[in-house]
Amino acid sequence: MSPCIVSVAIPVPLRQSFDFTVPQAFQNPEVGARVLVPFGRQQRVGVVLEIKQSSDYPLDKLKPIIDLIDQQSIFDKHLWATLIWLSNYYLAPIGEVIEAALPIALRQTHAVEPTPSRTWSLSDYGRSAPITELDRAPLQLAIVKKFQYQSSLANHDFRDSSSAWRQAIKALIEKGWVVESQAVPALSSKIAESDAIPALTPSEEQQRAIEQICHSINKNKFECILLHGITGSGKTAVYFKAMRQVLEQGKQVLLIVPEIGLTPQLFERIETYMPYPVVAMHSKLNDTERHLAWWHSKQGNARIVVGTRSAVFANFQSLGLVVVDEEHDGSFKQQEGVRYHARDVAIYRAKQHNIPIILASATPALETLVNAKQGRYKKVDLVQRATKVPLPTIELIDLNQQPSTDGLSPGMLAAIKSTLSNQQQVMLFLNRRGFAPVIFCADCKQSCKCHRCDSNLTLHRHANQMRCHHCGYQGRKLDTCGNCSSSNLLEVGEGTQRVEDALTLRFPAARILRIDRDSTRRRGALSEALKQVHDGDVDIVLGTQLIAKGHDFSNLAMVGVLEADAGIYSTDFRATETLFQQLVQVSGRAGRHKKGGRVFIQTRFPEHSFFQFLKSHDFNNFAFDQIEQRLAAGFPPFGFFALLRAESTHQAKALQFLKRAKQALLAYQELVVFDAVPAPMARRAGRYRTQLLLSSVKRSSLNYSLQQWLHILVTDTDLKKLANSVRWSIDIDPIDFY
Ligand code: ADP
Ligand code: ZN
Ligand code: ZN
Repeated sequence: MSPCIVSVAIPVPLRQSFDFTVPQAFQNPEVGARVLVPFGRQQRVGVVLEIKQSSDYPLDKLKPIIDLIDQQSIFDKHLWATLIWLSNYYLAPIGEVIEAALPIALRQTHAVEPTPSRTWSLSDYGRSAPITELDRAPLQLAIVKKFQYQSSLANHDFRDSSSAWRQAIKALIEKGWVVESQAVPALSSKIAESDAIPALTPSEEQQRAIEQICHSINKNKFECILLHGITGSGKTAVYFKAMRQVLEQGKQVLLIVPEIGLTPQLFERIETYMPYPVVAMHSKLNDTERHLAWWHSKQGNARIVVGTRSAVFANFQSLGLVVVDEEHDGSFKQQEGVRYHARDVAIYRAKQHNIPIILASATPALETLVNAKQGRYKKVDLVQRATKVPLPTIELIDLNQQPSTDGLSPGMLAAIKSTLSNQQQVMLFLNRRGFAPVIFCADCKQSCKCHRCDSNLTLHRHANQMRCHHCGYQGRKLDTCGNCSSSNLLEVGEGTQRVEDALTLRFPAARILRIDRDSTRRRGALSEALKQVHDGDVDIVLGTQLIAKGHDFSNLAMVGVLEADAGIYSTDFRATETLFQQLVQVSGRAGRHKKGGRVFIQTRFPEHSFFQFLKSHDFNNFAFDQIEQRLAAGFPPFGFFALLRAESTHQAKALQFLKRAKQALLAYQELVVFDAVPAPMARRAGRYRTQLLLSSVKRSSLNYSLQQWLHILVTDTDLKKLANSVRWSIDIDPIDFY
């Protein structure tokens, strides 16, 4: 009888799998099942990649697996195909890809099914007993009503209740209404089908979009649909309708949103309009919650899965539709480890499931637009606001004519004043936290630098600290120059804290709230802050990009952008696009419900064509212009990039590795290999960062040559030695060149 051998993916940064024999005791392992294997002196959990009869290694050298953890694959087959593709496309070690796709509990030997815990459900009696029996016990009545939405309740369902619920449950058990058991906690759908609020009556334009999309959905096959609608055009209402259609067919829906787009408001909206069990997947879940969410989605209990980037790795029983909202958002790209782009992975995945995918945005990525133009995606447009409220007017404040003090120009101050006097809210946007970004010595003309990074320290005056926003260094604020000991130090430039102080002085009666990473470190702090703005408890909200997205504040009439120039003359070819997207986003917050929303932007370049497009809300022509430039330069999506990064405590070492890599890569003719250079920020947290840019007009040749190069890396001892002496990585379709 031929032996059973499995090749196993193990989460180590090695681009290879490992062969083991399978003892008789473990019957028929499946591809995608977890196994416990000996690895060096340790035991590791791996996943079966392949089952075979022979190995390249001599049979007597192979070790047996220690345990077969799962009887079946723990991945749905389309997800599995997606992971294999992802590993090939992004040239990421398969073990690391699989690890990224699993909740932490399952990276260990924990069973697929979450641990049962104490739960309560209605007894047969409870289901049929007259509810009037509980008339005099309001708390018990409330609990019984909860069972309308959820088959069983567990401890965490009472998180927000007073502790009296325990007594009430006990009483219900004694009366025979409720039974206690050990089970995996069930999912809630906060509303029953009968009290779901019917969706808003769609406008004519929305109706047309819905029909176009539902036409695609009814074809029951893969199609990529770009839903391009201006801010406030009611895109959410449109894709909700599409989601409902799929849910009514009994299928599951995956909704992926940017890191900061997953707000309680979005959740509320989903629960209000869609009476189906929904589960969230995002970075704030703890390990138990994450495992539970993964399980409910895999079992098909969760009909809607809404999450950030990594939700693209959820398992499904019967996935029917994927929606990626704000598809242009940079947070979909994972910036470390397995550097995948969640939107692109979602598209591949939808193709595997043979189902439609909707990409929604007011400012689609240029890549997506080109795909639509070339007919690969279907494009559905919304060009009117659903609320019939016109888009805000955009006015420029020329900083050359009226300089600002503490980040605020006279024009901006006047606009704030007049908005406040109308009892309306103001939102100010400044993408820089802290008090002052630079501390400058007037005598020796040096700025105060981080000793571990090539960057200035930011002054945080409230904490009396200087902090590095790149490596996290914190130190006490110095009173004298570290270079020449002069006390003639200037605090240059402004961050949100300085503007906050200035606003407090200028508008003493106004309620001012600053929202940035410093003010929202505590769990739940951000949603509390946003709620304050919603409830009208704030007159001026000042913040970084945390406030730019998705929020719908009904009394917000004015948006002020304090700084917009950094993105205009940046060396990053995507910076202009990103800035435009960001400014459209923030502008879209003004005057969503009442006429007369106004946006003010402070700039030194009011004549720049960028602002002319922005003022006339002309994203299409802006994008057209950018696409032309990209075409001329051979930039994505007309050429494809990969970045080979290397870092080391010695810059020379990192550069040497990349130079050597370049030599090898020069052999591939369809590849353009640039020079090995220090990264724009050459040193960070004490490590020197270097990079080698590769480009090709063909995706396939970029992939092919790098695959070949990875083989060379294994056989070329010199290259291998250099590689082992640095920390290096490959980034396919990089979006950041820092
Ligand atoms: P977008 O995501 O395109 O910016 P939203 O879907 O958030 O827009 O909708 C913007 C606002 O318009 C929301 O307050 C929403 O309730 C409202 N809205 C959407 N569709 C309609 C409609 N058909 N009639 C009235 N109001 C609508
Ligand atoms: Zn000095
Ligand atoms: Zn630093």
